[in-house]
Amino acid sequence: MRFATVEYKGKVLVGVVDKAGESVTLLKGITDMNDVFRGAKVDASGEKVALSAVTLKAPVPLPLRNIMCVGKNYIEHAKEFTASGFDSSASGAADAIPTAPIIFTKVPQSVIGPGEAILYPIGVSEQLDYEAELAVIIGKGGKGIPLAKTMDHVWGYTIVNDVTARDIQGKHKQWFLGKSMDTFAPMGPFCVTADEVDLKTGGIKCWVNGELRQDAKFSDLIFDVPTLIATISAGITLMPGDIIATGTPVGVGIGFKPPRFLKKGDKIEMEVAGIGRLSNHVA
Ligand code: MG
Repeated sequence: MRFATVEYKGKVLVGVVDKAGESVTLLKGITDMNDVFRGAKVDASGEKVALSAVTLKAPVPLPLRNIMCVGKNYIEHAKEFTASGFDSSASGAADAIPTAPIIFTKVPQSVIGPGEAILYPIGVSEQLDYEAELAVIIGKGGKGIPLAKTMDHVWGYTIVNDVTARDIQGKHKQWFLGKSMDTFAPMGPFCVTADEVDLKTGGIKCWVNGELRQDAKFSDLIFDVPTLIATISAGITLMPGDIIATGTPVGVGIGFKPPRFLKKGDKIEMEVAGIGRLSNHVA
């Protein structure tokens, strides 16, 4: 099932999106996707409304906790990032590929929805970049989750654009400041149950102003979804509604020579089959 958080007649509501992506059936008694992640019974017998008649919000407009993110989780991206000179986590090509997952976070307030503007942080950064990522949404919480049981804890998936200020990421060594600015986590357009995305055959694509920049399979992840959940939950209790952005593939702006940073007016689109296409622009 595909779920959307929408604004309709001045209210924020949650609904189930039809197969064609043309209408949304509003849920009775649920206005927060986190209730669905916690297992609330879904009663999709409410009003059916054309998607064109609502404003799509991020599926989770304000996550309960920081979004957990994985750095350098595709081999070719790890190489391009380290070669770019912006990677403070590696000394050179020899240690470009991480031997354990690199985890950082973005604050919940960095989330924006489909169609909303990524605001250029004028005076703070001059090197804005995009990162298309599959994000895992945790359903059942847990700590010390064994590898073989990790997928039982996945509620489903969405798309996150891990927008990054490369100059700030490089300057401050730790990535939080460069990745957590206001509007730096476009999310959506929908969140979908785990059965809608095939991690073996599925993939993610990203276009900037219509030009295909990223195109990768999830099977190319260095640390797969089970490994990420087992690693994080080893010492941190995962909770329903936790979101883990799994990392971006090769093709980000700093991978080009010279780098192709985002500019005001640029349109960034990212797509995962089963989820849909997330589109945002820079303003
Ligand atoms: Mg990223």
